[in-house]
Amino acid sequence: MAKIPKEKKLKTKTEKTICSICRFKRIKCIPSEENEEKCEFCFKNNLDCLKYKPSLMENEIKRLNTVVKNHENRIQNLEERVQSLEKDNTVVKNNLLQQKLLLNQLDFLLS
Ligand SMILES: [Zn+2]
Ligand SMILES: [Zn+2]
Repeated sequence: MAKIPKEKKLKTKTEKTICSICRFKRIKCIPSEENEEKCEFCFKNNLDCLKYKPSLMENEIKRLNTVVKNHENRIQNLEERVQSLEKDNTVVKNNLLQQKLLLNQLDFLLS
């Protein structure tokens, strides 16, 4: 009687992962037999199959948050620049006005 060696499972298949598309569509995420990287639905529809993992999602959310923050900062910077430009613009306008007035006065005095 030969002992049958217990199969050593390299991959633990207990981890339940649902790809983001199946999750979104609320359908069963069945691993594709033709493609290890994809689930059936994604394989059939030729979609990028992204396995849903909370940690990955968290990282993605964190990444997106920083992207959004960066954009917010940039927008704020731009707004500040626009405001300072507008200020500059009014300063220039006022200067021009004053110069005009001075010129007018000078004109008046000279005539
Ligand atoms: Zn799926
Ligand atoms: Zn999928």
